[in-house]
Amino acid sequence: MKSISIKTGSQFDTINITAQIQNLVGDSGIAEGLVHIFVPHTTAAVTINEGADPSVVKDIMKELGKIVPLRDDYLHMEGNSAAHIKSTLVGASEVVMIENGSLVLGTWQAIFFCEFDGPRNRKVFAKIFEG
Ligand code: ZN
Repeated sequence: MKSISIKTGSQFDTINITAQIQNLVGDSGIAEGLVHIFVPHTTAAVTINEGADPSVVKDIMKELGKIVPLRDDYLHMEGNSAAHIKSTLVGASEVVMIENGSLVLGTWQAIFFCEFDGPRNRKVFAKIFEG
């Protein structure tokens, strides 16, 4: 298993990690296979969406904030239930195909780490399978 470290900059943040995941794939020497990307946190997530226009992930974060209000009658005493719920909605993992040593993504797609309760030091794990 490989990992990358991320320092998020604010309470809500999206960080394009495509190049870092591609570097892990390149270092592995595996030309054909899959990479499983896993976020080992309960208030963060990973998603694939448009990387060309940075407004897209801003809109996603804004609308998630409407779906899941920061304050409600949450039971969790730590005060960050909204972040936990967003983490579950967006998800902790993605799987991306590898062909000719490169991630198989659509023209506009990028892999984003999503921070819902920052700023924090975070990790992303990646397991690369040949096949
Ligand atoms: Zn919590």
